[in-house]
Order: sequence, then C-alpha cells, then structure tokens
Amino acid sequence: MNPALTKFGVQMSKLTGVRAIMKDINETLRAGIGQELMNLSAGNPLILPEVEQLWRDCTAELLSSSEYGEVVCRYGYSRGYSPLIEAVAKDFNKRYGLNLTERNILITPGSQTLYFYAANVFGGYTINEQLKQIVLPLSPDYTGYGGVSLVPEALFAYKPTLDIDTSSHRFKYRPDFSQLSITENTGCVLFSRPCNPTGNVITDEEVEKIAALAAPLNVPVLIDSAYAPPFPALNYTEMTPTFGENILHCMSLSKAGLPGERVGIAIGNEKLIEALECFQANASLHSSRYGQAIAARAIDSGELARISETVIRPFYQNKFAVLESTLAAAMPDNLPWFLHRGEGAIFAWIWLQDLPISDWDFYQQLKKVGVIVVPGNSFFPGLHEEWEHKHQCFRVSLTGSDEEIKTGMQRFAQVAQEVYQSATVSA
Ligand code: PLP
Repeated sequence: MNPALTKFGVQMSKLTGVRAIMKDINETLRAGIGQELMNLSAGNPLILPEVEQLWRDCTAELLSSSEYGEVVCRYGYSRGYSPLIEAVAKDFNKRYGLNLTERNILITPGSQTLYFYAANVFGGYTINEQLKQIVLPLSPDYTGYGGVSLVPEALFAYKPTLDIDTSSHRFKYRPDFSQLSITENTGCVLFSRPCNPTGNVITDEEVEKIAALAAPLNVPVLIDSAYAPPFPALNYTEMTPTFGENILHCMSLSKAGLPGERVGIAIGNEKLIEALECFQANASLHSSRYGQAIAARAIDSGELARISETVIRPFYQNKFAVLESTLAAAMPDNLPWFLHRGEGAIFAWIWLQDLPISDWDFYQQLKKVGVIVVPGNSFFPGLHEEWEHKHQCFRVSLTGSDEEIKTGMQRFAQVAQEVYQSATVSA
C-alpha cells in the first residue's frame, strides 16, 4: 500500500532534527549490544527514586479516592481538568503575585503539542495569504521546533552573538538585537529558557526586551519553560519567570518526572488561551486526565516544587560539574574548545572552533571509541543561512552515570586532540 499523501501529509511524515539522528543512534546501540557504549545522547530524564515515589503516592491517593471514576471514566473540558487548573492558578498567583483564573490556563498533552497548536494558530498563511513567521530569536534552540509548523517556510531563526571567554574556555549565546526583527509579518516568537540544547538562560532583561518588541504588534511570545522554575527548576543560575499581556508561559511536567503522562501547561492572556483551546478541541478533545489528576495533587501539596528544588536540580547540576571538571582536566589548553555556560537544563553544549571535520564526521569517530553524543547541526531549526558554527558543536546529555560522563569526556578530548593534530600535520 502506497497512499497518496497531501502536502501536510508529506511534511508531517518526515522525521526532523534530532529524531532523524536518533535512528542512527538506536541502530548503533542495537549493533553494539555487549560492547561498552557510553550513550550521552539521551533527552529522556532519568528516573530519580524520590520523584518516582512522589508520583506513586499521588497515584495511590487518586486510586483510593472517589474522584477516580470521574477522572478516567468520563470526558472533560478541552481546557483541562479543573483541579489541575485550580492548583496551577493558586500556586502561580501566590508564588508570583498574579491574578490568574481558569481562563488563563490550558492543559495540553505534553508541551510539544502546545507548540504545534501555537505554531499553526499564529504562524503560517493568513486568510489574505500573508505569511506570518514563527520567529526563533536565538539559534540554536530546541530541535522539536523544526517539525511544529505545517508551513515549514514560516519558521525563521536568528543567529546569536557569542560572548566568548577564551582563557576559561567558556562561552554564552546572546540574542542579537541588531538583527532581530519583529514586524507585522511576525506571527509569534518562541524560545526555550533554560535552553535545550545549550543550557543557556537568556537574561530577564533580554526576555523583557523581546517581549517589548513584540507587544505593540500584538505578537504572542511563547517562553518554553520546560526546564524552568518552579518545576522542574532545572536552572542553575537565578532567573525570574516573566509574565505579561503578550507572553505565553509554557510549561511541561516531563522533566519533573512525568514524560509518559504528557502534561503541558500554557499560561497567558485569555484570548491567546482560547484560540489554542479551540485548536485542541478540534484535534484531540482534551488531554488525558489521569496525569492531570496526579499533577494536581503534587502541585497543590507543594511537593512537586520542593522535590524539584531539592532533588532534581542538584542531581543534574552535579552531573554538569562532573562534566566541567573532566573537560578542564582532559582538554588541552591550546585547543579552541568552548563549553557553553551551564545555566540550566539537562545538557552540556561544546563548541570546537575551526573543527577541521564536520560535526557528523566527529560523531562517527567518537562512536568508534564507544561514545555517543549528538552532532549539533540538528539544533538550528529555521536558521537558513550557512554558518560554519552549526557544524562545530555537540550536545552531551547529563543523563549518563558520573563514570560514563567522565570516561565519555576523556575520550571526547582524546578524539578532539587527534582530529586537530591530523589537520595540522596534513596542512
Ligand atoms: N521544549 C523543550 C525545550 C524540550 O526539551 C522538550 C523535550 O525534551 C519539549 C519542549 C517537549 O516536551 P514535552 O512535549 O514532553 O512536554
């Protein structure tokens, strides 16, 4: 059977970004069964015992309550399960001094779905055939944005400026405000903070500046807070969640231990929420309610925020410290290597300036010594211009054991040294 696909069908049946590379990674892992392989490519969070226990306890409570039948045996509102919406409103109003009502909140089946709705509600062609762009103000960013629009030409990313500290081998991306343009052709703005893949946290001032550029044009700004406080609180630097008339604060419970249950949360102006809610009603009626019911309990009791700060954050922050000190010891000082400042998320991002081979070839060489990281070029969705930097970076997952991270980074340093050296010899 070879069905004829529509334009959207063709578009949506392609694997984009890192999902395409995952095929190669999975084949490598399968072929290497029995062989010692350090897989530092995963985006899947680890199961932390305290976090798993929290979800078990919430589930046990739900199972023994009279609410159970209502949760799993009945349809609900498209906006989401009321106890979860109430718990989020109460928590955020108290924590951040807001005045949220249920009209400001939408629950979606994971936050990826939320970006799919928003990308197609605010981006793409208007009734008058005007193309509204989905602007990513700082590339690299989350690879999943590459597949969210039914109109791929709508996605448009901007190159950042690089803040480089040569002597400490550190760098940080910043939005390039001399280039960033938000106009009547902009449908929405989208960025992750903390950022997957780089661990960058763009500053409060930078967020406010972006929101202020978009506000006069009524352009919604989606802040992907999948790693932000209050849960999962995977920020290692101070950051304040920003709210505002044109801001959609978007959260995910995936990195707070619930990726299998698919819970995404959007908070914002009721007109924005309403447009997304209607999309959801058409697409899926509503999110599954079991995950929402246990999340309501974990948020209402304050346990999710507490465990995020006391368990989830220090766990990954320590992993970053292991990676940082291993690289400092193993990487030769005379190589132009740069680690992105580890400000959050569950990844490290390494830039090998003037790398003599492509990121893909380097990834292949690393595989030969049993280490798997993700070549960086798939993390620049929407960046159309050629830029050598795209082929000089690597995402390293902090989900490996300390030992795997140490050995993996020692081998990374060894391969880097060989690659730069062989280029010098052949030059
Ligand atoms: N946004 C970012 C920055 C992510 O890293 C991820 C997943 O890794 C997502 C969104 C999607 O998360 P989910 O759909 O599980 O909420």
